[in-house]
Amino acid sequence: MTPALVIVATPIGNMGDLSPRAVEELAAAALVCCEDTRRTGRLLSRAGVQARALRRVDAHTEGAASAAVLELIAAGRRVVLVSDSGTPGVSDPGRHLVAAVAQAGCEVVVVPGPTAAIAALVGSGFAIDRFCFEGFLPRRGRERASRLEQLAAEQRTCVLYESPKRIAATLADLVVCCGGERQAVVARELTKLHEEFVRGSLHELLEWSAAEPKGEIVLVLEGAPEPPEPDDETIVAALDLALAQGLGSRDAAASVAADLGVSKRRAYDLVHHR
Ligand code: SAM
Repeated sequence: MTPALVIVATPIGNMGDLSPRAVEELAAAALVCCEDTRRTGRLLSRAGVQARALRRVDAHTEGAASAAVLELIAAGRRVVLVSDSGTPGVSDPGRHLVAAVAQAGCEVVVVPGPTAAIAALVGSGFAIDRFCFEGFLPRRGRERASRLEQLAAEQRTCVLYESPKRIAATLADLVVCCGGERQAVVARELTKLHEEFVRGSLHELLEWSAAEPKGEIVLVLEGAPEPPEPDDETIVAALDLALAQGLGSRDAAASVAADLGVSKRRAYDLVHHR
């Protein structure tokens, strides 16, 4: 095995999802970087792996750990990075360590596996040819309000992580900004005994959340519908304004087309036939 930092995904609830390749890398690693040594220690013993060394690497210690990891890799060893569950770096620490190793010109290897976001997305049944990942929303304030506003307009399916304690508040905010009719799915306890997908409108899911659900939750929000094409009158009014501001007809048509999201040809035809 060549020297490298190996990012290893671990189960999000079901030990059966730990891949043979993950076990092999954990067993071979000179060091396993993890969020919580006790938790990862339990995972290793359930997998029958005797790790050489474990080191806690969290949001605060990632920088300091990088030097030790780089030293081991320079000495020809392999270092594994795991998080408490799922894929490291996905709403979990790891990014800075990976960046430091890559910047030092060392090899980064990924052993892919469980991620709650992808499991929830594929189970949602929504369009996922394009999607966006929001992770946890900011808890309050202007940052939360602006993220909710972006979500309301987002046409791609969006996936969010949320705690069971806060899901009702988040659904209530989403009803206000997206409207109660927007469809969504709550994916709860994925890969575990009580896995469930609760499907419905935001309004229905808000009602469901009144029963104070427990367990781990991913919320998948269907994208906003495409806004309707503006009518001719709206385009002509915008063209008149652009022409009054001194733009020539070609530039006015191009600028209005870009602003209103209509084709340049349509805007150009209307400049001449208004
Ligand atoms: N790195 C993880 C991953 O790859 O999915 C995510 C870690 S993040 C700190 C934890 C959040 O992921 C939870 O609050 C929940 O929103 C989601 N999550 C993790 N495991 C889950 C599961 N089994 N079912 C549903 N959601 C889960």
